[in-house]
Amino acid sequence: MKRLLAIVTVCTALCVALAGCGVAATSPSSSPSSSSTAQAQGIDYLALVNKLNPLPQGWEEALQITEVKNSLGSDVKVEKKAYEAYQKLKEDLEKEGVKVDLDSAYRSVAEQQKIMDDFTKEKGADYAKKTVATPGYSEHHTGLALDLYLNIDGKDVYENDEMIRHPEVWEKIHAKLADYGFILRYLEGAEHITGYGYEPWHIRYLDDPAIAKEIKDKGITFEEYKAGKTYPTVSYDYGQSNLYTTEELEQAAIQVKCEFATFAGCELHNLRYAGDEYNTKENLDWLKGLDNNANYVQVAKILTDFHSPVEGGGAWEADKEMKDYEWWLAREEGKGWQLVSFGYN
Ligand SMILES: [Zn+2]
Repeated sequence: MKRLLAIVTVCTALCVALAGCGVAATSPSSSPSSSSTAQAQGIDYLALVNKLNPLPQGWEEALQITEVKNSLGSDVKVEKKAYEAYQKLKEDLEKEGVKVDLDSAYRSVAEQQKIMDDFTKEKGADYAKKTVATPGYSEHHTGLALDLYLNIDGKDVYENDEMIRHPEVWEKIHAKLADYGFILRYLEGAEHITGYGYEPWHIRYLDDPAIAKEIKDKGITFEEYKAGKTYPTVSYDYGQSNLYTTEELEQAAIQVKCEFATFAGCELHNLRYAGDEYNTKENLDWLKGLDNNANYVQVAKILTDFHSPVEGGGAWEADKEMKDYEWWLAREEGKGWQLVSFGYN
């Protein structure tokens, strides 16, 4: 049996609080999941791009862009099909007296770099890192993320703090998104998963109204949808914990599943919480030591059983049931889970 101990990418302060799918620095397999690769004939409309998952390679070459001018006179670039769907959404909303326009959509990696450089010059590197998405890791690179603004009583409303004062208008907009294949991307209270606070204006095109509707009806983030989609038949056992709610353990499981997604050819069978007894000072110190002495205050250990690839095996012994594979997560006060170590210890 192969013994593996991989240490997850040491994150910067920026992504410490995230529970979204991470980019594995040292995973036992090398091939990324096919869903995160731009397809030869075009782009994958279900690609996940967030602070931990970069724009798939070849994306900008495959992207077809429509360029339009908004009511403020600015040029806005949008992925072609996303723009067509947006126009239908906009028309439909106008029938209800809701007027929207496009503030910004597609931004190239080079443009994002310029924003980062300008912010760094003006406000300092720390502030820029906290406020601006890292070039390559913004959903706006996909051309499928659209920032809307409002027109209320003939007046354009585009400042964030002003837009947020019209929840009743956003509610009407959000209610129609799925019909045209869009989702609201950054849900309220899901910052630990998406990496962003609530943004009622940022919508994402998925090119599939049925999927958009499923995500909306379940009230989940796109990260959770992607993690769940990859393993529809996994059984879960969160046991009895006096430390964590089932919801908190589900958040830990999302991290595990995201990382597991990089284990090419492996099939996840079950995932279970190992128990409160692993939340010890000794384990905390061990995990802190693995992650630059991060200020962790709690530990969760997850166990999984999975099957190694039937043929070949890659880094694994082929066609073998792997039992009790360990996943160690920790979190800082008030923050989301961080996957710190996994493997047989
Ligand atoms: Zn946005």
